[in-house]
Amino acid sequence: MNKPLFSFEFYPPHTPEGVEKLAATRLQLAALHPDFFSVTFGAGGSTQERSLEIVQQIKAENLEVAPHLSCVGSTRENIRAILQTYKQLGIKRIVALRGDLPSGMASTGEFQYANELVSFIRAQTGEHFHIEVAAYPEFHPQARSARDDILNFKRKAAAGANSAITQYFYNADGYFHFVDECRRLGVTIPIVPGIMPIGRFSQLARFSDTCGAEIPRWLRKTLEGFGDDSESVQAFGLDVVTELCEKLLAGGAPGLHFYTLNQAAPSLEIWKRLGL
Ligand code: FAD
Repeated sequence: MNKPLFSFEFYPPHTPEGVEKLAATRLQLAALHPDFFSVTFGAGGSTQERSLEIVQQIKAENLEVAPHLSCVGSTRENIRAILQTYKQLGIKRIVALRGDLPSGMASTGEFQYANELVSFIRAQTGEHFHIEVAAYPEFHPQARSARDDILNFKRKAAAGANSAITQYFYNADGYFHFVDECRRLGVTIPIVPGIMPIGRFSQLARFSDTCGAEIPRWLRKTLEGFGDDSESVQAFGLDVVTELCEKLLAGGAPGLHFYTLNQAAPSLEIWKRLGL
């Protein structure tokens, strides 16, 4: 079996204090020698400058970085220019996404779906980039059906994606089912589970409603029951997420991708408990 792949995701902060705090977070997480750090990219180019700044900082620290690139609301010319910049920076890995059209932006631009972006990256840059795409074990909220969603995922692999990172989830069975279905349809790329540590329940509930990730009833009820007791939420969350990671790795998941929300402590603690 190949060595598991571990990665940490950041978003570009809005303030200079946030940028400074992220540098400290990165330092702590870099000590774990992950395979790469990824940096999100606001759809429609809304964070283009800030994302690039963080990507450059990570690269300057001699760490592996995978910029996310979302294509909705964008033009071929703009995407071509971004790819060129990343190539010049010596970046070798990209997370290729459709993104969600920001409210107020009317046109979807020249790309409809992520598979078109993957094809475009391959056509423009050949095999230069290792391309990651998104996967949804609990299915994308806009998918017409579970089967359609898996077939659409297959299109991304067929277009040249090398591997995938999933939306977060708290039900390992859903992940294993998704991977089995993909394999049955001949999709062979590694599908790395995305892991969301549990910090604040209200924030998690809000994210989950938007992206279609399910918080199982037993988990939601238990977290709700802690009310404002954030210490208990976090302690219980760490137990639940560590157990999930253990189950995923024991069941053959090819690695873990942590949605850090720019915090080091939860990922560090889970890492320690997993004995990685
Ligand atoms: P797609 O793969 O294009 O799928 C979107 C929907 O369209 C699905 O319902 C799919 O079934 C359907 N579909 C796909 N192809 C076709 C087709 N050819 N014909 C008909 N229907 C089709 N968003 C950001 O804005 N910035 C980020 O940095 C970012 N990072 C992310 C990282 C990860 C690991 C994940 C899982 C998500 C991330 N997102 C990010 C969110 C993502 O952009 C949204 O979930 C978005 O709604 C879908 O993007 P996608 O690339 O999965 O789209």
